[in-house]
Parts: sequence; structure tokens; C-alpha cells
Amino acid sequence: MVNEFEIKKQICDIGRRIYNRNMVAANDGNISVKLNDNEFLCTPTGVSKGFMTPEFICKVDAQGNVIQANPGFKPSSEIKMHMRVYQKRPDVGSVVHAHPIYATSFAIAGIPLTQPIMPEAVIALGCVPIAEYGTPSTMEIPDNLEKYLPYFDAVLLENHGALTWSTDLNAAYMKMESVEFYAQLLYQSKLLGGPKEFDKENIKKLYEIRRKFGMPGKHPANLCQNKDGVNCHNCGGACHSQEYKQFPGYQYDFVGSDAPAEAPAATTANADAELVANITKQVMAQLGLK
Ligand SMILES: [Zn+2]
Repeated sequence: MVNEFEIKKQICDIGRRIYNRNMVAANDGNISVKLNDNEFLCTPTGVSKGFMTPEFICKVDAQGNVIQANPGFKPSSEIKMHMRVYQKRPDVGSVVHAHPIYATSFAIAGIPLTQPIMPEAVIALGCVPIAEYGTPSTMEIPDNLEKYLPYFDAVLLENHGALTWSTDLNAAYMKMESVEFYAQLLYQSKLLGGPKEFDKENIKKLYEIRRKFGMPGKHPANLCQNKDGVNCHNCGGACHSQEYKQFPGYQYDFVGSDAPAEAPAATTANADAELVANITKQVMAQLGLK
């Protein structure tokens, strides 16, 4: 296992990336990493995440109570929202919260990211719903977030920002980048007259590929809450078909957090990114888009 000091340094690195990519302003945003079932590292409140050093990082227990913090540092006031993710998703090793401009604009406009417009976003994220507004630092955000946790690895927070989680810190951060990139593409393509969406057939093909590669995390390809076909594009209604039921992920449908953790511990964000790149190539070829 990587030692604690190394993880603290990694948190500072990711903080810099979030700040440098304009995903947070001033002292906004927070990051946490699970060490074990009762120890979590998290960023402190009231500091810019772009200028942290390892001694800034605090340690909390599963309830968010301080285990260790250097003088002058207190854990993020949003730690409760992180803890709810770990509580409901034992497969998760890290949670990232930021306010990226495009994703947050969609969260403010009340528009979830549900349009299937590019292979990577469909494969890696599926759709990104909006968790109902809650006052920061109260239990409202974790409570409103909870129902999305069994089905997604990324949500927008209404009138606030975005939250992503994954097997490790790098992967959770990459999800945040992907959400923001997807939101930006959606925004720009709307300005150009509106995106051309994939049809159901093509969405199904992308989902089949995701299942075949056994990618970690929750995704509507494996866990579809789209029972009535209105909330989310992603299965394209495919979750009701016989064909869909033949896929290995199908038995996990609708079972929520009782589902076996699908994430192999060794999965890294790089392997993930490479996988998505390969999958995308295949899909583009299949679609004749090259
Ligand atoms: Zn925030």
C-alpha cells in the first residue's frame, strides 16, 4: 500500500490540477481519500486547493470526526457529503468535489447531462443527473445525493457544482475532468445549432462494449434506473430487452448498493483511459466514423 505521506502529496497534486484548470475559485472544492474503513484523508476548509502542502491534509473517521489535523487546519465543511459516498459505496476509494464552470452552469440552469453525444462520455459516465439542492455543510446535500449513489459515479449538485467518485484519487479526478469536458461540448454544440445525438442502436453498442470490458464503477449500462424510460437516455430503453438480459452485468440490475463491488482493486485511471480510447476506436470503426 502507498504510504500516507505519498497520498497526502497526491492530494496536493490533484488540488493544484483542479485549481489550475479553473475548476474551483478561491478556497472552493474538496478532496478525500479512503485509507481504510475508519480512516480518511481530506482537504482542509478555508484554503486554496491550488497551494496545499502535505501538512495541510486532515484525517477523519467514518463519521467525519477529526482524528488528526495540524494547528490552524480543520476538515472541509463538506466532509459529510464525502462520507455518505463511502458509506453507500464500499467500492469507492476517493471523492472529488469542484465547481467547474460548464458543469456548474448546467447545475445552475437545472439541465442534467443526459444527451448522448460522444462515445467516451456515454461509455465512461452514462448520464449525469442533478442531485436536488441542499444547503452546504448541512445534511441536506448527503441526503439528496443518496438515491443516486447506487447508479452513478458522477452527479451535478443543483445550483452548486459537481461531485465525482471512483476506485482511487486519480480515477475520481479524471471523472471530474470528463464531466466538465462533456458539459463544455454539450454547451458549445448547443450554440452551433444543437448536438446530433446517438440513436438507441448506437447507444446500445457503446453499452455492450462497456459491459464486455468489465469497466469498474456504477453506470446505467450495468445498473439502470431508467425503468420508465424518462429520466435518462442511457440504456435507450435497452434494459427491458431480452438481448440486454444476456449481458453479464444484467443480474446486478436494480439491486443498488448490495451489488458486488465490480472494481478490481488494481484498476488505475490510466488503464481506464487506455481502455476508453481503445473502445472508442472500435466503436468509431463500427459506426463507420473512423
Ligand atoms: Zn462546493
